[in-house]
Amino acid sequence: MEVPSLAVIQQAPKVLLHDHLDGGVRPSTVAELAQENGYLDLPQTDPVALASWFRTAADSGSLDQYLETFRHTVGVMQSAAALQRVASECAQDLAVDGVVYAEVRFAPELHVDSGLNLNEVVEAVLAGFAEGSQVAAASGHVIRVGTLLTAMRTAAKSREIAELVVQYQDRGVVGFDIAGREAGYPPTRHLDAFEYLRRENAHFTIHAGEAFGLPSIWEAIQWCGADRLGHGVRIIDDIRIDDAGHAHLGPLAAYVRDRRIPLELCPTSNVMTGAAESIAQHPIGLLSDLKFRVTINTDNRLMSHTTMTQEMATVCEAFDWGLPQLQWLTVNAMKSAFIPFDQRLEMINSIIKPGYATLMSV
Ligand SMILES: [Zn+2]
Repeated sequence: MEVPSLAVIQQAPKVLLHDHLDGGVRPSTVAELAQENGYLDLPQTDPVALASWFRTAADSGSLDQYLETFRHTVGVMQSAAALQRVASECAQDLAVDGVVYAEVRFAPELHVDSGLNLNEVVEAVLAGFAEGSQVAAASGHVIRVGTLLTAMRTAAKSREIAELVVQYQDRGVVGFDIAGREAGYPPTRHLDAFEYLRRENAHFTIHAGEAFGLPSIWEAIQWCGADRLGHGVRIIDDIRIDDAGHAHLGPLAAYVRDRRIPLELCPTSNVMTGAAESIAQHPIGLLSDLKFRVTINTDNRLMSHTTMTQEMATVCEAFDWGLPQLQWLTVNAMKSAFIPFDQRLEMINSIIKPGYATLMSV
């Protein structure tokens, strides 16, 4: 298979389901917002030096350093203007990267340090996505951005955040997520929030099976009722390859595949946090061969110094994939989005398939 060039991949329509707003801020914006808001804790003030600091700190293999990177992005995102700017730039950056539909997530409770309330935080971000999508469309890059509200699994605000999801579901919020340290904080701690969302017919994904293994995935699906798995990469622990090279699925892996539960895989991020050893050894290859509902995502574009184009290029290189596989991943993602079924179908048939058909006919 001919591996497509970066230029071709960039033109391909893309769907992104797992991207953190505070993990994708432009380094220049972090520096400018820090100066405007009197935030004095930045390790570097020059945008180029700051970009490389984020990359090095995130890739240090130390969880403390990794988490410190978010302290700084969240630190400069404490006013309505800052939140709106970051969200607007996020939509524009994704659109230029060829993303036609994105679900971007953030945790409202992390942005109330300077006195904003949770509703003001959500409204500033929604305004930013609307503004950024408009700016992008004016330059020929049409994108739709849906918002996921995240609750921190280490905190106790999940029910309140879940209520916000329902409150804003007609205004651009499409689902709920929980994130943060997995070990010691099982998703069942937040059962109340998930039960509430199910009663309200709302959608949610759960960060599970990244650092922590099968028990976390099992709880997320069988106790909490997650529609999708954030990462879910450790499902590989329930698949055994025999000496003849045949794959044998354990009961949980079989359930995930049978029910077509989407896996929000983030190759570069998974390697940086140690969830996978290298891109070449990333389970995305095997999981795709076995026809799990695999999707490819960026997670944290700033910390992982990546884009959707970059993630796609990396897996094409590692697994000798071409445009047909990228289309499969993209259609998988669109099918798994939290917007209504007819709208997903419309995007697949009117944007994604024609876009790939054009690129493949060249
Ligand atoms: Zn994530």
